[in-house]
Amino acid sequence: MPATDYIASIGLEVHVQLKTESKMFCACPVRFGAAPNTLVCPVCLGLPGALPKLNAGAIERTLVVGALLGCGTPEVVKWDRKNYFYPDMPKNYQISQFDLPLCLGGAVPLYELAYPKDAQKEIANPGKSVRLTRIHLEEDVAKSTHHAAYTTIDFNRAGTPLMEIVSEPDIESPEEAVAYLNSLRQILVYSGVSDADMEKGQMRCDVNISVRPRDQEELGTKIELKNLNSVSAVRRAIHHEIGRQIAEVEAARPIQQATWRWNDEVGQTELMRLKEDAHDYRYFPDPDLLPVRTAPFLDRIRGQLPELPHDKVARFEESYRITHYDASVLASDRALADYYEAAAAGSSAPKKIANWVINNLLAELKARALSIGECPVAPDALASLVDLVESGTVSNNQGKEVFAHLFEHPDESPADIAKAKGFEPADSGEIDAIIDEVVAANPGPVDDVRGGNDKAANFLVGQVMKRSRGKANPKQVTETILAKIRG
Ligand code: ZN
Ligand code: MN
Repeated sequence: MPATDYIASIGLEVHVQLKTESKMFCACPVRFGAAPNTLVCPVCLGLPGALPKLNAGAIERTLVVGALLGCGTPEVVKWDRKNYFYPDMPKNYQISQFDLPLCLGGAVPLYELAYPKDAQKEIANPGKSVRLTRIHLEEDVAKSTHHAAYTTIDFNRAGTPLMEIVSEPDIESPEEAVAYLNSLRQILVYSGVSDADMEKGQMRCDVNISVRPRDQEELGTKIELKNLNSVSAVRRAIHHEIGRQIAEVEAARPIQQATWRWNDEVGQTELMRLKEDAHDYRYFPDPDLLPVRTAPFLDRIRGQLPELPHDKVARFEESYRITHYDASVLASDRALADYYEAAAAGSSAPKKIANWVINNLLAELKARALSIGECPVAPDALASLVDLVESGTVSNNQGKEVFAHLFEHPDESPADIAKAKGFEPADSGEIDAIIDEVVAANPGPVDDVRGGNDKAANFLVGQVMKRSRGKANPKQVTETILAKIRG
C-alpha cells in the first residue's frame, strides 16, 4: 500500500514551566542561572519528614490557561503521587494529579501563521482545532547533567510548578504539530503565565504517534517520542517516525508500544525502553495534601482573562480596517500587537501604520537582531512620522530616510528630523511648473492617459518625482496630472 493510504494520529504532551515567584510546594524562589543547589530547602530536596505546601498562584495560572482554552474544571481536584525511582527525584515519587486534574477538555485553535512558513500556502485543514484531554499541575524534577564518567544534579529546578497539557490524537501531520505548538505558545505568552520558550526548556514536548490504514477505524499501536528540544526537531522527528512506522507495517512487523528517543544529529529515532502504562506508576492520593475546592479560584480569575490572539485579530480588522493577514501578523506576538495599537490609537491612518510596522519596522528590527521590546522608536514617534508622510509634508522615500535617522536618534522628533534634512513640503507653484513641463515634453504618454490608460500616468508621475528630486508627493502629483490632462 502506498504511504498516502495511511493516516497518522499524533497526540502531544506538553510540559510548561509556570512563571511564579516561588516553587509548587515550598517557598524557594523560581529563578534561572543561580549557582547549582542554592535555591533549595528540605521540601524540594525531598528530605524525610518535609511537608509540602500548595502554591495558590500556580493553581490560578493553570486555571487561567484552562479558561482561555475552553476547559472544564472539576469542583474538587486532588494531588496524587506518581511513583518511580530516578536520581533527579529523591522522594521516589512526583506529586502530580491523576483522576481529578485542574482542567478537562478544551481545545487549541491552529492559527494559519503558526504553521511552518513553507506549509502556509497549503493548509490541509484550515480552521482546525486540536481537542485537549486534560491539563494538570505537577512539580518539575531536578536537572541532571551527564558528564563523561559521572552525572551532576542541580535541584534549583526541582519543585518548579509544571503544567502538563495533554492533547487528543487529533493531529495528522508534522506541520499540524508545529502549528499546535506555535499556537499554544502564543496563547501561553498572551496569558502571561509562561514565556514557553522551548530552547530554554520552559516548554518541553513528548509526542505520541501511531499510523493506520485509511480504512481502519481503530488507532494503531502508539510510540512515544522523547528528547525533542525545538519545534523544528518535532517536525523532523514526526516526519521520520511516520515513515518508519509505515515501513514496519508494510513489512508485516507489528509495532510494539514503546518509548523512543529522537536523535537530531543522526536524524532518526532510537528505542529507549518498552512502554510502561499508567498503572505501573501506582498512583495514589498524596496523604500530605488536602483536595482543593476550585470555586474560589475560578471566582478570582474571572474578569481578568486576557484577549486571545484570534479575538485580537478580529478586533484589529474591525477597528482599524486592516487586512486579516496584517492583523494576524501583528497579533502573532503580544508585544508587537501592543506596539501597533499604541501607534494606531491616536492616528488617522491606522492602515498605513500597519504597513510601516510590518514592512519597515520589523525589517529594521530583524536587521539589528532586536526584539520589539527593544525597539528604540516609540510608537507615538512612528505615528507622527506616518502622519508626516500621509499629509504630504514629506514623500514616502523621505519618510524612510527620516525613519532610518529616527532609529539612530530616537529622542529626536520626526518633524525636526525632516526639517533638519531640508524635507520641506515642496511649494506647490514649483511642482505645478514641473508638471506643466513634463506634460509638454511627453505628448505620447499624455495621449495614452487621455485615452483612459491610467498606467501611462505612472510614467509622467515618475518624471515629476525625478525633476522635483523626490520632494513632490506622488499621490498629489497623480491627481494633478490626471486633472490637467482630462480637464
Ligand atoms: Zn524548596
Ligand atoms: Mn508529567
